[in-house]
Amino acid sequence: MSSIIYPITNLKATEQLVIDRGEGAYVYDKSGKQYLEGLAGLWCTSLGYGNEELIETIATQTRKLSFCHMFGGKTHEAGMQLSDTLAQMVPMDNARVFFGNSGSDANDTQIKLLRYYFNAIGKPEKRKIITRERAYHGVTVAAGSLTSLPVNISFFDPPVEALGILRTDHPHYYRGRLEGESETAFVDRITHNLEQLILREGPATIAAFIAEPITGASGVIVPPPGYYEKVRAILDKYDILFWADEVITGFGRTGSDFGCNSMHIERPDMMSFAKQLSSAYYPISAALIRGDMYEAMVEQSTKVGVFGHGYTYSGHPVACAVAGKVLEIYQRDKLFEHAATTGAYLQNRLAELAEHPLVGEVRGKGLIGAVELVADKASAKPFDGPDVINRAALQCQENGLLVRPVAGTSLAMCPPLIITREQIDELIAKLSQSLDETLGV
Ligand code: PLP
Repeated sequence: MSSIIYPITNLKATEQLVIDRGEGAYVYDKSGKQYLEGLAGLWCTSLGYGNEELIETIATQTRKLSFCHMFGGKTHEAGMQLSDTLAQMVPMDNARVFFGNSGSDANDTQIKLLRYYFNAIGKPEKRKIITRERAYHGVTVAAGSLTSLPVNISFFDPPVEALGILRTDHPHYYRGRLEGESETAFVDRITHNLEQLILREGPATIAAFIAEPITGASGVIVPPPGYYEKVRAILDKYDILFWADEVITGFGRTGSDFGCNSMHIERPDMMSFAKQLSSAYYPISAALIRGDMYEAMVEQSTKVGVFGHGYTYSGHPVACAVAGKVLEIYQRDKLFEHAATTGAYLQNRLAELAEHPLVGEVRGKGLIGAVELVADKASAKPFDGPDVINRAALQCQENGLLVRPVAGTSLAMCPPLIITREQIDELIAKLSQSLDETLGV
């Protein structure tokens, strides 16, 4: 045991898997036992473990300039380069970039950028933000208010009303449909609900709609076809910004470069990144907004005042250098293309598990997926509580595969982008065996 307060655990839990080292797509415990990293750490170690180029980049940048803050007129080469590369990669118009350290703080930053921007353009009343049921956008007090998963918000009393946060339906057809409702009718109904919410609240009071293009923590939910097109049309009609939280879906994860592209979300106004931005070799996040939003902010800054926001480690030079190298490797090694091919293979192999008696739904896109476990396949009856899902995840661990039990319903997979077809076969074989063993218990 140690003195650490472990997050998201029963505080009395005593059994911890002590991970000792990592190499490629695998990690090893103290006894030398090998585990396939089926969740890329925590949806983040896209280039796997022990990447010598990244280690070298960290060492070189640390020797050159180990710290430089970004306040009051200072900047540095690694940060400038990274922001330019990112701005060129994303499907946004002349994006401008604000760096932070985590997905949660990127989303906090976005809330402040929204406030500042709408003040700058003389619409300070536009301050509410629409999030979705079962969304996950982080755990700081502000980003945690955008999050809807009960485990992250109960007890904490997040300032939802003070921040003007509104919730609308989650686009999970399997769980959210009415009896006999088609996918199209489901999309029509929940987007109608969204429009009604906007009209009730007053469009002039609503700044943005935030969405993970494909959710992660709530169980890898891929919305039905046409959902985002309808959402976007409604948002455009009422002059509401689309804010894509790509903390999990960014950088090749969903079979194209960004989740927005996979899900037909045209040119988002804001994007948040972390995790795969640096393949988790160093903590870094980025909050991106449209160039013209930034220009309006700059133009009006004498009127509005200083944008009084920033973290000591905003644009940490070592984090920026390593993220810059990660983006270079993605492009040089054509890893998004590789992820698209291996992702299609993963989805085909996962689909085979749909026949398993414990599996209610298989879902995913590219190199992210989940199986939802059910007590009764015919009626889709969920298990009472997370015990069976947790047991299945432990069974996977026992068999040398790390996957994540999510939302008390599903096992999530999100392997490193460097995973091979053979390793996907290994993942499926271990998962399938573990489900059989869970059923046998
Ligand atoms: N947004 C999304 C979509 C996430 O999945 C996460 C974390 O999993 C976050 C934000 C928060 O990121 P962090 O844990 O780095 O604060």
